[in-house]
Amino acid sequence: MTNWLEQRLLQRLRPRVPEPLWRKAWERLPLLQGFSADEEQALRDLALLFLHRKSLEGAAGLEVTPEMRVMVGLQACLPVLRLGLEWYRDWVSVILYPDEFVPEREWVDEAGVVWVSQEPRTGEAWERGPVILAWSEVAAGSLLDGVNVVLHEFAHKLDMLDGMANGHPPLHRDMSNARWAEVLSSAYRDFNRRVDAGEDPDIDPYGAESPGEFFAVLTEAFFELPDILQAEYPAVYEQFSAFYRQDPLTRLRGAGVL
Ligand SMILES: [Zn+2]
Repeated sequence: MTNWLEQRLLQRLRPRVPEPLWRKAWERLPLLQGFSADEEQALRDLALLFLHRKSLEGAAGLEVTPEMRVMVGLQACLPVLRLGLEWYRDWVSVILYPDEFVPEREWVDEAGVVWVSQEPRTGEAWERGPVILAWSEVAAGSLLDGVNVVLHEFAHKLDMLDGMANGHPPLHRDMSNARWAEVLSSAYRDFNRRVDAGEDPDIDPYGAESPGEFFAVLTEAFFELPDILQAEYPAVYEQFSAFYRQDPLTRLRGAGVL
């Protein structure tokens, strides 16, 4: 995946993260279990390059520690392990808040009324702009529960590569756009029906908000609850496997995590 320039850069970057720091983060992240030694090294290298290229800044007084950097880097790079960092192009910043944050947002509706949104958020991804994350939620990536703010926001980044977050990221040449649209929209309709009927699905009901949120939420499920995604929406699991070029179900089962 990496070229010779990156290999040279990696020789400089690798000594900067001591082995115990990697180990500690890895042990806190069950969604990373089951990789071969080579795959583990590839993910670490990708995280190093990611942390080198992106700027991680603390907000609201948060001091970003090396441990936080590694926790963000590893989870952010999991979805692009087989795709490459090119998929995170055209933006630079990751902003970390200590906890939930309240973005002040103003907009004017059709009647000319100015509205101010003050809803607390755990994460945001701006088109060509920063990814914003609450550290308390990033740390909660240590639970394999289908909720992972890093996967969620970075899935939006992949989705926004071709414009709006509409649940349809740019696909690989060997994939069919028509098939993706058919599979995802049929699952979205079914998911909405279940949520409206008051069912309490294992997959985060927030996915019913919009096709863009559905893609982000299903990405969380793909990497954290692949057994459930595969059982409930096998065609989605197949499309996601082709898109991410990964099979977390087999990997996590092999590791005895599921
Ligand atoms: Zn979202």
